[in-house]
Amino acid sequence: GLVPPSTSGCGRSAEGEVSSKQKVITVDGLTLNGPLHDNKAGELFVDEAFQIIMDEVVKKGCNIKEKVCEWKDPEMLRDLLDLELGDSSEPHEKLLQLCRDVARFSVKTNHPRFFNQLFAGLDHHALVGRFLSDSLNTSQYTYEVGPVFVLMEEVVLTKLRAVIGWNSGDGIFCPGGSISTMYAMNLARYRAFPEVKVRGLWSLPRLALFTSQECHYSVKKSACFLGIGLENVQLSMSITGNLFFSLHLAPQSFGAFDPLDEIADVCQKYQALAWGGSVLLSKKHRHLMTGIDRADSVAWNPHKMMMAGLQCSAFLLKDTSNLLKLCHSANATYLFQQDKFYDISYDTGDKSIQCGRKVDCLKLWLMWKARGTRGMEERVDRAFAYTRYLMDEMKKREGFQLLLEVTQFVNICFWYIPPSLRGQQGQEGYEEKLSKCAEGFGWGGVGGWVHMCWTAEVQEQGSFFLNQDNLTMYFSFSPCQASQLAISNICG
Ligand SMILES: *Cc1c(COP(=O)(O)O)cnc(C)c1O
Repeated sequence: GLVPPSTSGCGRSAEGEVSSKQKVITVDGLTLNGPLHDNKAGELFVDEAFQIIMDEVVKKGCNIKEKVCEWKDPEMLRDLLDLELGDSSEPHEKLLQLCRDVARFSVKTNHPRFFNQLFAGLDHHALVGRFLSDSLNTSQYTYEVGPVFVLMEEVVLTKLRAVIGWNSGDGIFCPGGSISTMYAMNLARYRAFPEVKVRGLWSLPRLALFTSQECHYSVKKSACFLGIGLENVQLSMSITGNLFFSLHLAPQSFGAFDPLDEIADVCQKYQALAWGGSVLLSKKHRHLMTGIDRADSVAWNPHKMMMAGLQCSAFLLKDTSNLLKLCHSANATYLFQQDKFYDISYDTGDKSIQCGRKVDCLKLWLMWKARGTRGMEERVDRAFAYTRYLMDEMKKREGFQLLLEVTQFVNICFWYIPPSLRGQQGQEGYEEKLSKCAEGFGWGGVGGWVHMCWTAEVQEQGSFFLNQDNLTMYFSFSPCQASQLAISNICG
């Protein structure tokens, strides 16, 4: 059989030295088969850096007694971190210290008290999935480069489609929900006007896009990016659409679901987007999405509620006509040769608008394997239960005012009423004062106003991270800074 030229390839021995029998190859003063870089030192660095990651991020970063963030102003942080890139190499210990600094001054998004807009918490199996995909550094364009992940992605996408209620279809993992929206829009346009691929916007009539008032801003971004134009985005649900209907499953501020079945009655073609997608995993709560199977496509972000880690966003299609490939393929001959020794339908890369594509399925797959579908379901149900509990507590306690007395999903919108304003509700200038208080303190990224008003102690400790939103109230209030807490962190 074939004997490899040396144990580590590239004409080098396992130690990275040129063996005495080998001829040294030199070009332009550089030894080509010498020690390219010091593998042993590299391995040691990985080993020790892993320990830092383990201690500072995985353990300390998840410890409720530790800070969520050690907040510094930009100038101060710039001084503390040695960011400039120099001509010569830094020594081993210095590099490890830099890793510690990065961990130290970063926000611990895995912390039980990190309440971000959309994601929080740590799933250890998903984390290992992320380590593994990054270590393998696979680019998922063809079967020959990513055999395991081509098969795995198909299994995961099929599973997600089945949860929606589709027994066939297509899909792809995208770099986030915003990009998934762009995919959906581009496909909708291509399906209606296939000539757009060759002739471009010149061939099209003026197109319009209908979405909800509460739409995610990626709908507008997509309209700009795809040449549809902001003027043609209709923020209303009252018109029967012809090109693209974008629906929102639990928009991020309020967490309210659009009535999917009723919308499907009006409009047979639409796309649904999901921060709330994971609700489908819960037998108890999936009724919130009744009618989802009537959508043409669904963007589902397991990097949000399911804690798969950034980035993990599945764009799912009901279509079985190979629309993704037809719309996006460029048939690059250096990658997608037609005469390969295996079934080239496994070369899924040309469905993507990217060339190289990160593996995003492994973290979800490993987490799902570790928990089973039942474990995934429990995670969703638990988030709902925590939300109900917290709302009840806020109703009972002084100083909290809920924007909505009931929530459909896991979002809670509330004001913290500082002691000086308590009992003044309904009085003249109350809303303004409340709003001013919020604006005055701003939102510094470590909890902002709520953080500041809550207790000075909490602020100094950096023990909270909460996000604020400029929410338009349905009743008495004008747009006003309020805090929004989305229970997607169900670790701690
Ligand atoms: C979260 C979300 C997005 C953006 O997703 P990213 O992965 O952050 O790009 C877009 N639309 C909706 C409805 C979302 O919930």
